[in-house]
Amino acid sequence: MRRLVATGRSDVGKVRHGNEDALLLRDSVYAVADGMGGHLAGEVASATALEPIEELDGRIFQDNAAAVTALRSAVVAANERVSQLARDNPNYRGMGTTLTAALVEGRRLHVAHVGDSRAYLLRDGHFSQLTDDHTLVQHLVDEGQITREEAARHPQRSVVTRAIGVSEDVDVDSMSLELQPGDQLLLCSDGLTGVVEDEAIARTLMEVEDPDQAVGDLIDLANEAGGPDNITVLLLRYEDPDAEQASGHRTISISSRVDSGSGDWAGEMGRYASLHKGGPLVDHQGDDRRSVGAILGKATAIVLALAVFAGVVLGGSQFLLSRSFFVGLDGDQVVIFEGINRELGPFELYRVTERSEVTIDEVQLWYRPQLESGFPAADLGDARNLVRNIPLREIEEEPDPDTEDDDTQDEDTDEDPDA
Ligand code: MN
Repeated sequence: MRRLVATGRSDVGKVRHGNEDALLLRDSVYAVADGMGGHLAGEVASATALEPIEELDGRIFQDNAAAVTALRSAVVAANERVSQLARDNPNYRGMGTTLTAALVEGRRLHVAHVGDSRAYLLRDGHFSQLTDDHTLVQHLVDEGQITREEAARHPQRSVVTRAIGVSEDVDVDSMSLELQPGDQLLLCSDGLTGVVEDEAIARTLMEVEDPDQAVGDLIDLANEAGGPDNITVLLLRYEDPDAEQASGHRTISISSRVDSGSGDWAGEMGRYASLHKGGPLVDHQGDDRRSVGAILGKATAIVLALAVFAGVVLGGSQFLLSRSFFVGLDGDQVVIFEGINRELGPFELYRVTERSEVTIDEVQLWYRPQLESGFPAADLGDARNLVRNIPLREIEEEPDPDTEDDDTQDEDTDEDPDA
């Protein structure tokens, strides 16, 4: 007799006013979606994306291939529904969502995934991230441009390179594995993983026996770390009351997808699962497959990553640009940029989205270098706040507006002392 215990919760966190995450918990399907778009659009996107997944609940499939095909099709359908809504309603323009969905049939678990929510498996004390993050920083980590630690603090860490609802086509990752008694599957949004280390998550799952309490404890950990984002946690425990399951594992090993230095990750994954990008899923249980990046040379992988990246930017999708803002200068004018504050090859990954009335000569001297390099903002509202709070020179102290362009006089006391 097997028993699948499923529990989950979504929490608004400590900073956001609304919750754009959504969670699906039924008899045989489970999913987490992290919507974005603001002004309720994010909530619409994440809730809509869950509908086609929910329609699979309770369905019996002929075989594993049919189950995976159905799950992948549901994700494609989610993309069609969300992008259709975004096309039909101007208020929803640019909305999108992540979607990480699981389908359990008997002992068989299937996962389909787009975006930067995550699925993890805890088995025999080994905690491994099953999904790839479809994020800019993951590309940069894979390319060796930044370390995993830099990625965790990167101002553009929430920029996703793939999402549901932002274009007509979506590239879906999927995988399958055979559940073993004692397995714990965690689906979660980046509101958890952005602030709580993998090891703390794994430890909580191992040490807290009651699944509801484990979920609550994980949400508490994220809120104690500031709760900057909506937090969604969904936990599946596969229990076998007949088998005396060893419960005393106290050593934890972690393999995290974002750690490119973990050389045996592909091998570990090969034991647990077969991971496919795009194409139909074929069962390769126990196969020691390696990731595409490991098979191809590193140079080829970088070219591929750049091509994918360029495709996202040039393919008409505004999505990559729409999740990130920074305040900077366009000529003399202070403006809000939408996009990524860096240039990748020949591509400018940003554009002016709003202009302010402020010009550089009105800004206090010590603040100017920060404006010149660009000031990251969490969203458009945050960027507007930054603009409102830019420290300005006090106009009444200006002796003569004609000399305003001369920065050298009576502003020296405002120089940043940290030089
Ligand atoms: Mn989020």
